[in-house]
Amino acid sequence: MISFVGAGPGNIDLITIKGRSLLEIADVVIYAGSLVSKAHLEFCKNGCELHDSASMTLEEVIEVMESSTKKELKIVRLHTGDPTIYGAIREQMDILDSKDILYEVIPGVSSFTAACASINKEFTLPSISQTVILTRIEGRTPVPEGEGLESLAKHKASMAIFLSVQEIDRVVEQLAKGYGSYNTPVAVVYKASWEDEEIIMGTLGDISKKVKEKNINKMAQILVGNFIEGDYERSKLYDPSFTHKFRKASQ
Ligand code: SAH
Repeated sequence: MISFVGAGPGNIDLITIKGRSLLEIADVVIYAGSLVSKAHLEFCKNGCELHDSASMTLEEVIEVMESSTKKELKIVRLHTGDPTIYGAIREQMDILDSKDILYEVIPGVSSFTAACASINKEFTLPSISQTVILTRIEGRTPVPEGEGLESLAKHKASMAIFLSVQEIDRVVEQLAKGYGSYNTPVAVVYKASWEDEEIIMGTLGDISKKVKEKNINKMAQILVGNFIEGDYERSKLYDPSFTHKFRKASQ
């Protein structure tokens, strides 16, 4: 059996219990070495075969999966954060389907929620935004038409931007056009939940300068929106005058 496992954002205790248990019994682990903490591998049993996918092609990854499956070994494919977001797992799963090889997907804590936790904020605030947009700027990999940052920012929803900090100037320019203001709050979180995590708070007007001063050009979340600063309405869920399924309003 092959298990695609979300390793979480960095801190080794942010993997799920299910994910950790699978690592402990795995015979073969293929891990995304550029982003996954090596400390996860210390939970593997002696003799577990380790492959860093950073230097492998899709075909090589599939070859390891296929030959290990034939030997009835337990295989973990360890992805950073949650595997369903920029994990490139679909192309692996489709090939496995075509070869009738079974697999499962174990979710993980994505870096976008870890980053929001690090700044002690909430993406969804009543009257501010009830929507979170996960996206990236186009780079060597293009984004489909209609998904440019400027048009997404026009929704004024909360945003978490992956894979883009190295392009912070272009990110800011496009967001400012969409949000319509350089005063829009931004938080850049580098290596959320790792020991060398860095948090940079600012606005579209000054974030670029601050990010460059710290030399941050990879492994960061760019969180944007008015959920970061400013007023909001309190939640109806815990409002004494609001009745819902689990609680009657007080008089
Ligand atoms: N599947 C992963 C994302 C993989 S794409 C997830 O769910 O988090 C890699 C991008 O994720 C990086 O360029 C960066 O934008 C972001 N990222 C991954 N780990 C991060 C971390 N600990 N802190 C901040 N951003 C992170």
